[in-house]
Order: sequence, then structure tokens, then C-alpha cells
Amino acid sequence: MRQPLARWVCLDVGETLIDETRLWSIWADELHIPRLTFMSAFGAVIARGGEHRGVFELVARPDWLDHMARVQAQYGGFQPHDLYPDALSALEALRGAGYRIAIVANQPVERTAELLALGVKAEILAMSDELGVWKPQPAFFERVLELMGRPDPATVVYVGDRIDNDVLPAAAMGMRSVWLRRGPWGVIARSAPSEAHLVVDSLVELVERVAECWPPPRG
Ligand SMILES: [Mg+2]
Repeated sequence: MRQPLARWVCLDVGETLIDETRLWSIWADELHIPRLTFMSAFGAVIARGGEHRGVFELVARPDWLDHMARVQAQYGGFQPHDLYPDALSALEALRGAGYRIAIVANQPVERTAELLALGVKAEILAMSDELGVWKPQPAFFERVLELMGRPDPATVVYVGDRIDNDVLPAAAMGMRSVWLRRGPWGVIARSAPSEAHLVVDSLVELVERVAECWPPPRG
């Protein structure tokens, strides 16, 4: 069923479309920290409400930035197997249902080309480092609306895995806010804030339920 209005579905990247397990495994290996230890520390930082970079402090590696170039070289950008298995099919299904697609995230500039190379299609593909604004700043969400041609924010669904960076700021901007409860942030937070218009555990479920973001017409 096609949508009566040009509604947008705007998606985050990390832990929404892309599984970041490989990146953090490379970090663990590069720092010679057992992966289980490193990932546990990562979770502890999230549970404390910290930023993910806080993991380096917790594992006592203030020298982590010295390893950045080596990690990025090993990572080599997004690879096909980094995509969550439901990512491409969900984007296709949403497009088929008449939604316009935007993909925006806190990511380096080169991720746009990498996503295109993986077959990710969207009308808008923009990373924070090229926009010069970052989530959860309101300016990030304002810039996204501007790229869309300034639609009524209530016609835009924003989908992301983090409550602090995705759900709350998107809802504050007047967008329909969907919490995709997967990845470390999804597992650790569990209970949904009242600001979330919809909570889903996969992009398959998003496709099935995205229309619930709007109240049914009266009558
Ligand atoms: Mg994310």
C-alpha cells in the first residue's frame, strides 16, 4: 500500500544498518585485550551512560589514538558482511511501500561511498562529518530536515538504536521516533522511553509496523 503523503523514513547507520562487531573486534585485537574483556568494558561504559570512546579509559589505554590509523587500515571501511541481514531488504520494502529514504549518521565522510558500494540506496545519504553537525545536536536534525526540503517533521520517521542520540533528539524535533532495540545500546537499555512512538527489534518488524507511528484517521 503506497502512502498518501510523501512520508520519509530516516535511518541511522551503526547498529541500525551496520553491525559494528568487526570494528570493535579489531580494536580489541590491536590493543591486545581479549575480545570478551573489551566488549564487556564497552557495555559497562554504555550502562553508565558514557560515550563509547570511554571504553579506552576503562581499559586503561589512553594511547588508543596512536592506534587509530592501524585500526582503520585493518577495518577497510564497511564490507558486505557488516550489513545486518535485514538491512537491504527492509530499505527495498520501505521504498516499495512508498516511503522516501534518508540515511544519516555520526560517521566519517567516506562511509557514504562505502554504503553506496554495498548496494544501499537512499534519496539522502549524508554523514555527520560532511554535514559539520553531529547527533544528538538539534542542528543535526534541523540539517536533515533541510536536506529533505523541510517537510512537516511529523511526516518523518527517524529510526535508530540509541535512546540518547536517536530517539530523544528526533522526538524533540517533532519527528516520529522509532527505537530499534538491537546492538549494545538496545540490549543494555531495554525499557523504552515514552518519547518513542514505536519500538521494534529488527528492521523486518519496522517494515511491518512503521505505519503505527501515525494515529489512524478518525471517522
Ligand atoms: Mg547507531
